[in-house]
Amino acid sequence: MNTPVPAQADPAGPGLLVPAQADRLISENLSCLPIESLPLVQCSGAVLRENIYGERDQPPFDRVAMDGIALDSAVAREGRRSFDIQGVQAAGDPPLTLSERSGCIEAMTGAMLPSGCDVVVPVEEIAVKDGIARLKDGVAIEAWDNVHRRGSDSRQGALLLEAGTRLTPPEVAIAAGAGMARVRVSAQPMLAVLSTGNELIEPGEPVLPHQIRRSNVYGVIAALRRHGFQRVADDHVRDEPAEMRARLKLLLDTHDVLILSGGVSMGRFDLVPGLLTDLGVRMVFHRIAQRPGKPLWFGVAQSGPAVFALPGNPVSTLVCLSRYVIPALLAAMGDRTPAARKIPLAAPVTVASKFVHFVPVRTEVDEWGRDWAVPRLTNGSGDFTALAGTDGFVELPAGPNTYPKGFVTRLFRW
Ligand code: AMP
Ligand code: MG
Repeated sequence: MNTPVPAQADPAGPGLLVPAQADRLISENLSCLPIESLPLVQCSGAVLRENIYGERDQPPFDRVAMDGIALDSAVAREGRRSFDIQGVQAAGDPPLTLSERSGCIEAMTGAMLPSGCDVVVPVEEIAVKDGIARLKDGVAIEAWDNVHRRGSDSRQGALLLEAGTRLTPPEVAIAAGAGMARVRVSAQPMLAVLSTGNELIEPGEPVLPHQIRRSNVYGVIAALRRHGFQRVADDHVRDEPAEMRARLKLLLDTHDVLILSGGVSMGRFDLVPGLLTDLGVRMVFHRIAQRPGKPLWFGVAQSGPAVFALPGNPVSTLVCLSRYVIPALLAAMGDRTPAARKIPLAAPVTVASKFVHFVPVRTEVDEWGRDWAVPRLTNGSGDFTALAGTDGFVELPAGPNTYPKGFVTRLFRW
């Protein structure tokens, strides 16, 4: 079943992918996530998986756009300035008909324009006395003023929302306007986040000098939640082969995507790749020519679930998550929004190695409203305290090179 990793013409080292190749391999191997039909009130933030078309013209009739009187503009043009009020047209009622051309009908915002009328004069522009509405001095009448004409916004059958749209409040309202009580959206994937390592101690528990706080998964879960993922299990396993194997098997049986932290480097206790392979998870790639995050491992189980095994160094974990995992999950849910946007560097950055570099940045807006990426120096991939106040990281091409201030690069947000 193993698909060999394609041969690389990559100067960074034999068998090492570059990030763009990893993106391609992930998108080729991560299958589209399932669809579910949800009531509209539960759809905010979901990715639409069907096209939505106009149920009717929008507006569906010539709609009165101001409270006032509806009349025939030709009569006003002939010089008439006062009109007998013949009736009241309320919103939600079928249309009245103007019986005398010299008359008018009081009409409310949202009502159908009474037949025989082609203009609405707002209340502010008339004076009403003894059942007669008089135009105030200087008020000019133009046909179709204050009438929101049928079909002027969109036509029946027009494509209003395309599959792949993330449903923000206006789109939810548009779907409701198209008469949709439920819509087909991407189902939330069942995600499992699993940390590995004997040294890791939960926040809140006593910690000994040789132990480390289990911090990564908290950042990972926060990022997943921020991007709208709601079904996220959190688990931990020690670097014990039998224990880890059993846990991985259970998680593979019960989840769509596993996100692991640690255990994928070259150390004696880095058991993750071997155990995953034993369990029938086909490795798609291991290691990318990037800093931080070189040891990233990705594979797909025969039974379906995908596994991202992220390096344990805290900066590497978060960078790999935001650079690969979250964009891949969003794409698998049908979201076509690009994962990154362009931003210029606010200061030069030197990339010493032949690896692509991910540099944490804070974004800053200048006095003309332009965004800049201000690089943050860190003590390397273990130094996650340096990430405080950063917004994400930029992706700089492989060096050796110095990228000047103003160099435009891609920004990935945490
Ligand atoms: P590993 O990838 O397992 O070799 O871990 C690399 C480094 O990251 C080690 O110093 C680990 O202690 C640390 N580390 C691994 N997992 C976590 C975690 N969940 N939280 C914080 N640090 C971690
Ligand atoms: Mg470890």
